[in-house]
Amino acid sequence: MSNHTQGTALITGASSGIGATYADRLAKRGYDLLLVARDQGRLETLAAQLRSSTSVKVEVLKADLTNAADVSGLEQRLRTDASITLLLNNAGVAANSTLAQADLGEVDLLIQLNIVALTHLASAAAAGFVARGRGAIVNIASVVPMIPERFNAVYTASKAYVLSLTQSLNAEIGEQGVQVQAVMPGATRTEIWERAGMDLTAFPAEMVMEVGEMVDAALAGFDQKELVTIPSLPDAADWDALVNARLALGPNLSLQQAAARYKTSGA
Ligand code: NAP
Repeated sequence: MSNHTQGTALITGASSGIGATYADRLAKRGYDLLLVARDQGRLETLAAQLRSSTSVKVEVLKADLTNAADVSGLEQRLRTDASITLLLNNAGVAANSTLAQADLGEVDLLIQLNIVALTHLASAAAAGFVARGRGAIVNIASVVPMIPERFNAVYTASKAYVLSLTQSLNAEIGEQGVQVQAVMPGATRTEIWERAGMDLTAFPAEMVMEVGEMVDAALAGFDQKELVTIPSLPDAADWDALVNARLALGPNLSLQQAAARYKTSGA
C-alpha cells in the first residue's frame, strides 16, 4: 500500500512494456508517478488503472523525446520539482539493420532517444538530486554491450553508452546521496521487438523473460543498491570478475612508452 513518503518517480516510456510495469510496481511501493511517452491515450488508461488500484497521485505528460523542446521541458521539471526523487530513463527503440544498410534518419532518431534524451534527463536529474541530497537515477541499458558481435551496431552501441554513462555518473555523484543503477535486461517480452521488425518467437523460449519478472528482479537489484543489475545472471561474481579484469588493465592503460610489440616495425 502507498505510504506517500517516496516522492515522485518520473518514468519515460511508461505507455508499454518495461516502463508500464515499473509504473505498476513503483505505485505499489508508494511513489507518486509522472508518466511520460507519446501515446497519451495509453498513458491515461494506465494512470486511471493505477489511481483506482493504489492511492498514489499519477500525472500524465505527453512528450516525444526525439523532440528537443519536449526534452527541455522535462529537464526543467527535473531541475525544479523537488518532489521528484526517482528518474527511470527507460524510453528506447531498437533497430534491426546493419550499419551499412541502415536508414540514417532512423539511426539519428534512435540516438536522439536512446542517448541524447537519456543524457539530458540524467544530467538534469543529477543536478536536482545532488542539490537536494536525495534521489535515484535508473537507466535501462541492455545485455547487448556484452555481446556486440551478435546484435546490430547502433542499438548495441547506444546501450554501451548507457552502461558507460551510468558507471561514470555513479563515480561522479554516487557519494552525494544519489543512487545510480544501470539495468541490463536480456530478451524481454515487450512490444519493442515487433516495433523494430524483429520476431521474438525466433528466440528459444528459455532465453525470453516475462516483463514482470524482469522488472521485479531489477527492483530487487535496486533495493540491494547494485550499480549494475543483470536480471538473468545466476552468479553476480561473474560480473564482478569482468569488472575486476577491466580494473586490472588500469595501471597499463596510459604510459609514457608504447608497448614493445609496437616498436618492432618501421624503425
Ligand atoms: P516498448 O514496450 O516498445 O516500450 C518503449 C517505450 O518507449 C514506450 O512506452 C514508448 O511509448 C516509448 N517511446 C518510444 N519512442 C519514444 C519517443 N520518441 N518519445 C517518448 N517515448 C518513446 O519496449 P520495452 O522493451 O519496454 O523498452 C523499454 C527499454 O528497455 C528500452 O530502452 C529498451 O531498449 C530496453 N530493453 C528492452 C529489452 C527487451 O527485450 N524488451 C531488452 C533490453 C533492453 P510511445 O510509443 O507511447 O511513445
